[in-house]
Amino acid sequence: MIGELRDYLAAISDLGRARALLAWDERTQMPPGGAAARAEQVATLARVRHERLIADELGRLLDGAATETSGLPYDSDEASLVRVARREWEKARLVPSELRAEITRQSSLAEHAWVAARESSDFSAFLPYLERNVELRRRYGACFEGFDGFTHPYDPLLDDFEPGMTTQEASTILDELRDGVRPLVAAVSERGEPVDDSCLHGTFPLEAQERFSREVVAGLPLPEDAYRVDPTIHPFASAISSSDIRITTRFDESYIGTALWALVHEAGHGMYENGVPPELERSPLGSPASLGFHESQSRLWENWVARSRPYLAALAPRLRELFPEHFADVDADQLYRAANRIKPSLIRVEADQVTYNLHIVLRFELELEIFEGRLELSALPEAWNARMSEYLGVAVPDDAGGVLQDVHWAAGAFGYFPTYSLGNLVAAQIWDAALEDMPDLDERIARGDLVTLHGWLRERLYRHGNKFMPKELIERVVGGPIDVSPYLRQLNERAAEIYGI
Ligand code: ZN
Repeated sequence: MIGELRDYLAAISDLGRARALLAWDERTQMPPGGAAARAEQVATLARVRHERLIADELGRLLDGAATETSGLPYDSDEASLVRVARREWEKARLVPSELRAEITRQSSLAEHAWVAARESSDFSAFLPYLERNVELRRRYGACFEGFDGFTHPYDPLLDDFEPGMTTQEASTILDELRDGVRPLVAAVSERGEPVDDSCLHGTFPLEAQERFSREVVAGLPLPEDAYRVDPTIHPFASAISSSDIRITTRFDESYIGTALWALVHEAGHGMYENGVPPELERSPLGSPASLGFHESQSRLWENWVARSRPYLAALAPRLRELFPEHFADVDADQLYRAANRIKPSLIRVEADQVTYNLHIVLRFELELEIFEGRLELSALPEAWNARMSEYLGVAVPDDAGGVLQDVHWAAGAFGYFPTYSLGNLVAAQIWDAALEDMPDLDERIARGDLVTLHGWLRERLYRHGNKFMPKELIERVVGGPIDVSPYLRQLNERAAEIYGI
């Protein structure tokens, strides 16, 4: 029975991966004329996959396999497969197909409306679509009444991205993060002396940027035959299999940081996917555990490695060669300071690593207020602007630069934002554990040895794939629950170094 279950689930996984390949193609290769047909193809794959996932047949296979695996250890591949697949099956069956189809249709309409509304900076043009999205998400959430301890209307939304985390837990964590980050941001602002990051801005010829980014990826511990990099508008990474990683990137002629840090970020996602063991592939276990964990790895490589002093010191000579105009007179210390500048800003995706968290908390708080019925959607821009001013001291000039800046709400992805900050917290905890095991990690990074860290991550985290709930996984990886304090301590240490506070 377990063999039959495996085969059944393998086909579900194949359909999902094929869909990911079509989506990758759409955003990197497809001529615009392919859009309409591609939408149909993606929808068909999604429908066939979903039908297979909710089928009674899968329930029968799960029951049979459960009996067969009942004596196996909790963390065995077989017991984990049955446990993880059952939760997915149960969740998927609770939502009527018509509601799912309606959510997909509406979010597609809303995304188009959002593009136009953002262009004209007109929230009121987007409002009816947002209202519809929220109403559909409420109906979606209501399908899960009584499932797995859900009590809050936001619980099922969060669970789709961070399985097992409750709204209450997320609130406690993000409140503590907010209250820890705000004084740090205030202290940096009061300090008054801005860090000079002008070396990162100017004109950087695209050809040199491309060469630079190829070298950066080649220096990461990703097997050469297991990835490719392509340009796109909004960078992402996706895995067609663990040995077929699609990294995408973007070049900004006026800022070199994108070619470096956005690329390392996506490669970090790719390294996690690549580290999932082949024996877990073609199953629900063959992927990272949650968006929070996924994000912990992209951020760990982007911020803990690629913004570290030893990494940048090793990189500085090459930057000087490729971009002498900008870096001829910039030493490793100046580069490190520039890379870690803290400055409140308007746009989330351009924010530094510290203030970034306040962008997330703001969105999370507004989402909660919406789903708790405490905030009218028509009042959203006002609430947004007020909180931007309160948390970041930033005045929002218009809705395009404010409430309309992100696609998530247009796509109906409520419950997604918190995972970005959860990723930061998890990365900090993992970093502490890595330093404990490898006290010479800095020297290794300075020598260009990233393989040791990668091997450690593979052993600690990657090899588990999606076997465990995030709550179980964090215990296994760092020996305790998710904790805000390591991250706050590390942010403060770095700020102390750079700002002397
Ligand atoms: Zn990411």
